[in-house]
Amino acid sequence: MNELSGWGRFPKIKTKELIPQLESELLEILRHSESYIPRGNGTSYGDSAINKNLTVTMTRMNRFLQWNQESGELVAESGVLIADIIDTFLPRGWFPYVTPGTKFVTLGGAIACDVHGKNHHKDGSLGNFVNWIEIFNNKNEVVRCSPDENSELYDWTIGGMGLTGVIIRCSIQLKKVESGWIKQQTVVNNNLNETLQSFYEHKESTYSVAWIDCL
Ligand SMILES: Cc1cc2nc3c(=O)[nH]c(=O)nc-3n(C[C@H](O)[C@H](O)[C@H](O)COP(=O)(O)OP(=O)(O)OC[C@H]3O[C@@H](n4cnc5c(N)ncnc54)[C@H](O)[C@@H]3O)c2cc1C
Repeated sequence: MNELSGWGRFPKIKTKELIPQLESELLEILRHSESYIPRGNGTSYGDSAINKNLTVTMTRMNRFLQWNQESGELVAESGVLIADIIDTFLPRGWFPYVTPGTKFVTLGGAIACDVHGKNHHKDGSLGNFVNWIEIFNNKNEVVRCSPDENSELYDWTIGGMGLTGVIIRCSIQLKKVESGWIKQQTVVNNNLNETLQSFYEHKESTYSVAWIDCL
C-alpha cells in the first residue's frame, strides 16, 4: 500500500498503486479490477487521481510513438510529460498549443483536466488540439475516439477527470514556433478595474496573465 495525495498534499490516502510499463500489463490490470482510477503525475490539487481500492499510475507508459515534422502531429502514450514534449520538439520548432502553469503533467492528466494556459482567450483549452484518443472504456475495450468517431466518448473524456476510462495514447497537434523566446510587456495597474481594462486592451497578445499583490 502507498500513501498518495495530490499537489495540495491533502487528503493523503492509502491505496494500492500499480505502475504498468506496457499496454499488455495495463490491460491485464484493468481487466481484473473492478474499481480503479488512472493517475498521471499527481499535480492536480485534490484527490481526483486517487482511488482507495486501486490507483493505476501511467507515468511509465511514456513513449513517443509517431512524429510528423511537416504537420506537427504527435502520437504519444498518455504518460509522456509536457516537459518531455517541450525538451524534444521545441528545438525542432514545435511547441504545445496549451501549457498549464507546471510542465510536469502527463498528457493523459492534461487531457482529463482539459487544462488551460495563459493563451486561453486566444486558443481555448488543450482539448481543441487533441486529434484522437485511445481509451480503455467501461466495456473493457480499447476504443479510439475523435470528433468524427465515438465523438460522445471523446467529448466526455476531454475534461472527464479519468471517469470515462484510461487514456492509453493520443494524437495531439503542436504549434509551429520560430523560437522559444517571447516578447514580454509588463503593465502595472492600481486596482482590479484597471487590470481588467488592461486585459481588454491587450486581448490580441498571445499570452496574458495578471498577478494580484495584496500586500
Ligand atoms: C504549480 C501548478 C500550476 C498549475 N497550473 C495550471 C494551469 O495553469 N492550468 C490548468 O488547467 N491546470 C493547472 N494546474 C493543474 C494541473 O496541472 C492539472 O490538473 C494537470 O492536468 C494534472 O496532470 P497530471 O498528469 O498531474 O494528472 P493527475 O493529477 O495525476 O490526474 C488528474 C486527473 O486526470 C485523470 N487522469 C490522469 N491520467 C489519466 C489517463 N491516462 N487517462 C484518463 N484520466 C487520467 C486522473 O484520474 C485525475 O482525475 C497546475 C498545477 C500545479 C501544481
